[in-house]
Amino acid sequence: MADHYDVIVAGAGIGGLCAALRARENGASVAILEKADKIGGSAAASGGTIWCASNTDEWLKVQPHGDMALGAALIDYFHTGIDWLSKQGVSLQARKEPNPYKFQRTIYQLLPDARTAMETLSDRFQARGGRIFTNTDLRGLLGGRGEPISGVQTAHSEWTSRAVILSTGGFQGNPNLRARYFGTQSDHMIVRGVPQNTGGGFQSALAAGAQPVGPFNRFYGHLLPAPPAQVGLHNFLKVKPDFSEYAVLINLNGERFDDEYLGDEVTCHTLVQQRRATAILVFDQHIRDNQAALSQWPAPDNDRVTNIREAGGEVIETPSLSELARTMTNRWHIPTHAFEKTMTEYAAACASGNGQTLSVPKSGGLIPLDTPPYYAIRTVPGITFTYGGAKVNANAQVLDKTDRPIPGLFAAGADCGGIYTRGYTGGLSMGLAYGLIAGEGAAQYARLSD
Ligand SMILES: Cc1cc2nc3c(=O)[nH]c(=O)nc-3n(C[C@H](O)[C@H](O)[C@H](O)COP(=O)(O)OP(=O)(O)OC[C@H]3O[C@@H](n4cnc5c(N)ncnc54)[C@H](O)[C@@H]3O)c2cc1C
Repeated sequence: MADHYDVIVAGAGIGGLCAALRARENGASVAILEKADKIGGSAAASGGTIWCASNTDEWLKVQPHGDMALGAALIDYFHTGIDWLSKQGVSLQARKEPNPYKFQRTIYQLLPDARTAMETLSDRFQARGGRIFTNTDLRGLLGGRGEPISGVQTAHSEWTSRAVILSTGGFQGNPNLRARYFGTQSDHMIVRGVPQNTGGGFQSALAAGAQPVGPFNRFYGHLLPAPPAQVGLHNFLKVKPDFSEYAVLINLNGERFDDEYLGDEVTCHTLVQQRRATAILVFDQHIRDNQAALSQWPAPDNDRVTNIREAGGEVIETPSLSELARTMTNRWHIPTHAFEKTMTEYAAACASGNGQTLSVPKSGGLIPLDTPPYYAIRTVPGITFTYGGAKVNANAQVLDKTDRPIPGLFAAGADCGGIYTRGYTGGLSMGLAYGLIAGEGAAQYARLSD
């Protein structure tokens, strides 16, 4: 038996670190158990842009039928959380820039980078007497199924506590769970984050009687160049072709399959259902010079096409669309006729300015492809975190199948199921906001159950 704590937190990404530090500030003895050999999770590898929809009306534009209480708590705690981060010594700066999303956002940048911010939180937590155990992974919960949670099970020990906060970053790294929820083509997805996030929190919660909540077919991710491109934590940011809403996305049958204008964080969801979960991104030099250039953050010279080539991704470049069609047929077996039919229909929609006439309608971003050279990049969906998981309420309490809180069980960050229903309104913000809520709630629960 390991030591006893008021609160045990599983996972030391942004959700876990914020939860643990907040619980400690509220007087609880706290330990973080972290599966990897260092703290930080995907948060430390992230771009460090911490942002949220500016208010619940903006949030609802992206999260149709979203739970207002969950959204309001996210936005409230994001705003107070920004001040709280500053007080912890985390450097951040408000950012104003052209908004690539179609709703209003409030944006800050972690400085100098996200890893430093996570290390600042970790140092602060330990300076306040918190303990961190790396190479220690949550395998299950003690209690549950009608009984209060009383601790966690790891590989070799039982750890007792009054409350547990799950913050293990979602289940995207687990091929079996991906296959169950996204189907067999999910093999082709690339995990766009740390590999440790394999659903330890979700599965432990279910075993303790938690209620699973979707949407299980949706997730936060981006298109990534398909293998043989070498992509990973070192270059995820540089190789995402996040201008797809202005381009044409076709499947291996040469057909459009979704409204590109929704953004690749949404079209990735339908892409998983396509053959080999593969899409070809088709665009021309005009789109490369204009739309692709807009997304060249973090450095202005960060040309996505060059970066994808450097990573070994397959980029076809030809002087005409018909040659693009021929080359794609020879190299990737895309049926020429189907592709040409798709492009003819697309050109007509661009000419009329009406994307609703397309077999698969497009809601905006109609730009004719008429400026050579023409490009095609083979892509697959990258998955950063899952939207489905264990159901929580706005107090970050994990709920059972009758919607009652499981006593002593909380969740933070991507382990909070059901907050996002379709689109993406920030990942770090969910860790910050629900981390603070869970930390406060768990410390209070521990105090009251003393
Ligand atoms: C390349 C990239 C860029 C990104 N850029 C941004 C951005 O600019 N802005 C933004 O808002 N979001 C961004 N994100 C998303 C953001 O990083 C995540 O949404 C956020 O980190 C999720 O927080 P979390 O605490 O839930 O998970 P994580 O930060 O991933 O932390 C989860 C932790 O749990 C640990 N763990 C997993 N399983 C177990 C277990 N069984 N027991 C114990 N520990 C476990 C993991 O090792 C990890 O340390 C980006 C992500 C990536 C990969």
